Amino acid sequence: HLDIHDLKASYGGKPVLHGVTLSADKGEVVSLIGPSGSGKSTLLRVLIGLTPPDGGTVCVAGEGVDYGHRAGLRALRRRMSIVFQQFNLFQNMTALGNVAIAPIKVHGVPRREAEARALELLASVGMADHRNHYPEQLSGGQQQRVAIARALAVEPEILLLDEVTSALDPERVGEVLDTIRTLAGSGITMLLVSHEMAFVREISTRVVMMDAGQVVETGTSEQIFAAPVQARTRSFIGSII
Ligand code: ATP
Ligand code: MG
Repeated sequence: HLDIHDLKASYGGKPVLHGVTLSADKGEVVSLIGPSGSGKSTLLRVLIGLTPPDGGTVCVAGEGVDYGHRAGLRALRRRMSIVFQQFNLFQNMTALGNVAIAPIKVHGVPRREAEARALELLASVGMADHRNHYPEQLSGGQQQRVAIARALAVEPEILLLDEVTSALDPERVGEVLDTIRTLAGSGITMLLVSHEMAFVREISTRVVMMDAGQVVETGTSEQIFAAPVQARTRSFIGSII
């Protein structure tokens, strides 16, 4: 469903991704783990079109993504969404407005229809009661659940999540993890970066260990956590558990 082949990227001429190859079947939760600076966020940024690739290919449902052109990026944004660590909601819009805006502005969905759908999405993340609240009136965990609802509003086939709980108070982490857990069974394909290793172990259908811009090892959750093959994976797992 998602096929990434030999993907390369650099910042200011300095190579950061050295040819990453991985795939995710429809409905899979594939987690990226690895030390700080190993390229996990960069990989997600390239996939969503924020950082241009230097080489390699990305296919979604068998169709190659054209990162070089506006039309290609527009098509991509209908199929893939991302949620970041920092809640980047529009401060001047309510929760409902935040979720409805992309379908209205980008996809031309009539406002009434977009808002009805946005309310359903807010309900699915337990935020329907807060639909008329502005971001500053919401806790971090609540904002992050609205951000997830917003990412889902374009009905993406693939959802990218980059440390979406890292900026939250500890007691707010659980509610966002619950939201992701519910989504995991819904048929959407997820690429997840999280420092919540117990959660990664529980939820992932596959885990990809990255180091220095490369994939070191890929396996099932059990294999990577209980019986990693590569020494680099063993030492990483050993250092975090
Ligand atoms: P972390 O777990 O700390 O979030 P990461 O695996 O997400 O790390 P990346 O953020 O992808 O790592 O960084 C990969 C490499 O690219 C690092 O060496 C980092 O210093 C570098 N890098 C990241 N963003 C930029 C940028 N905007 N400009 C230049 N270099 C960058
Ligand atoms: Mg990162």
